[in-house]
Amino acid sequence: MGSLLLFLLVALCIWMMLDMHGGHAAAGSTLGAGTDPVCGMTVEAGQGYARMYSGRLYRFCSRRCLERFDDDPQRYIGGPQGDSQPGGAP
Ligand SMILES: [Zn+2]
Repeated sequence: MGSLLLFLLVALCIWMMLDMHGGHAAAGSTLGAGTDPVCGMTVEAGQGYARMYSGRLYRFCSRRCLERFDDDPQRYIGGPQGDSQPGGAP
């Protein structure tokens, strides 16, 4: 009987840890995620590429998007989003 109670306590502990971890992960993804200014994709923290530019951190889904941003940063952060040239594969 004693071991069953101990098991339930351990199970409750693990469940609480998992619950805390889940909440933390959800908050972290919201804080760390960024929008790729080149293609508009949402890039999770720790994924893709990142670049500091004029005091802000920009995230990119791929190296290709990063290179396009490096080529002309003002084009992607200066003007309104939604370029007339999609220039991307479907
Ligand atoms: Zn991209």
